Amino acid sequence: MHDHGDCRELFDLISPFLDRELDEATCEEITRHMQACPPCRRYVESMRATRDVLHQMGEKDPVPAAEAEDLLRDCLSAVRSRLPGATPNP
Ligand SMILES: [Zn+2]
Repeated sequence: MHDHGDCRELFDLISPFLDRELDEATCEEITRHMQACPPCRRYVESMRATRDVLHQMGEKDPVPAAEAEDLLRDCLSAVRSRLPGATPNP
């Protein structure tokens, strides 16, 4: 017994599921459906991958901050290497 209503329901729940906003019972239901329904499983996996990427881009503050940090580090090591008795960075 497998009707497509289940799949529709799952699609609606994917977002809160990936955000871990659902209660345990619902998570279990989704997991069980995914195990029985490869297309949904694939869909959830791809959603998760997409969200991971978006998350990473949103979390780390854009490139400039990282670049600035790199520049600062380069700058510091350049300064240090000019100091007498400086120890090189590992
Ligand atoms: Zn399904």
